[in-house]
Amino acid sequence: MSKPILRLPPPSDLSPLRRSLLAWHRRHGLRAPWRSSGDPYLVMVAAVMAQQTQISRVLQKFGEFIAAFPTVEALAKASTARVLRMWEGMGYNLRGLRLHRAAKRIVRQGGFPRRAAELVEIEGIGPFTAAIITSFAFGEPVAAIDVNVRRVLIRLLTGESEARLSDRALQPAADALISRRAPGRWNQAMMDLGARVCKPRAPQCNVCPLATWCRARPLFESRNAPRRVAEAKASYRAQAPFRGSRRYYRGRIVQALRELPRRVTITPADLLARLAGGGLNEAELRDLIEALRRDGLLRINAKGRLRLP
Ligand code: SF4
Repeated sequence: MSKPILRLPPPSDLSPLRRSLLAWHRRHGLRAPWRSSGDPYLVMVAAVMAQQTQISRVLQKFGEFIAAFPTVEALAKASTARVLRMWEGMGYNLRGLRLHRAAKRIVRQGGFPRRAAELVEIEGIGPFTAAIITSFAFGEPVAAIDVNVRRVLIRLLTGESEARLSDRALQPAADALISRRAPGRWNQAMMDLGARVCKPRAPQCNVCPLATWCRARPLFESRNAPRRVAEAKASYRAQAPFRGSRRYYRGRIVQALRELPRRVTITPADLLARLAGGGLNEAELRDLIEALRRDGLLRINAKGRLRLP
C-alpha cells in the first residue's frame, strides 16, 4: 500500500461539493426513525447498534429495543441481564453492556453532554458514536468516521483505493469537509454514500455525487480498473475467519446463558456440553469464562455456577 497524501479540494469547490452530496442524500439517503428525531438517546442506541452490524438488522432490532427502554433513564434503570437479553441477535454483546453503562453515566451526570469531546469521556462512547450524537442532536460540526466514511474519504482525498491512515489522521480533513449548516445530514450522507455507492469492491463512480472532486475516480475508470477491483476484493477477503474465533465462542457462551430461564444457573461442564461440537476444550472454556466475567458479561456464584449479570 502506498504512502497516502491527503489533499482537500480547493476552498472554492467546498460549497458545490457539499450541495451535491446533500442533494444526492435527499433523494437516495436511508430513512430511519432515529435520523430525524433529534433525540440523542435514540441516536446513541442506533449508532452503537450499527457498529459492525448490517443496517437491515439494526432497523429490525431498534424498535424492539426502544419499546423495552424508551428513554435513557429506562435503560439506566434496567438490569444488565435484561439488557443483554434484549441485545440478542445484535452480536458483540460487549457493545450492549457498554451502552447500558453509558446510559447509567449519562443519567448520573444529569443528561447528554452537547460536545463530542465531552461525550468520548464516557466509557463505551467512541469518537464515531460521539460525533453522530452531537451532530445529529445538537448540530455540532464534527465528522463521524465509520468504515464506509473512511473509504470515501481515502478515495476522495488521496486518490488511492485504500490506504493505511488512522481515523485520527483523517479527522481534521473530514471536519474541514463537513457542512456547517447541516452536520447531521452530512454525516448521514457520507455513511450512506460509502454503503451504497462507494462500495469496497465496485464503486459506482458514474452515479457518485462526489465524482467531480474525487481523486480516485480515474483509478476506477481507467484500463486498470478490473485489476484494481480484483485487488480490492482480495484485500477485503483477507479478513480473519469468524467461526471458531475467540469472539465466536464468547458470543455462543453469552447466547447459552441468555437461553436459560430467569434465575437459573449452569455449571461450566453443562455449558461445555451445550456447546458440544464447537471444538472447545475445558481449559479454553475456563479462560473464556474468566474473560467474560472480567468484562461484566457473566457472573459466577459461590458454587461456581454461571448466569448473566
Ligand atoms: S467517485 Fe468513485 S471512488 Fe470516488 S467517492 Fe465516488 S464512488 Fe468513491
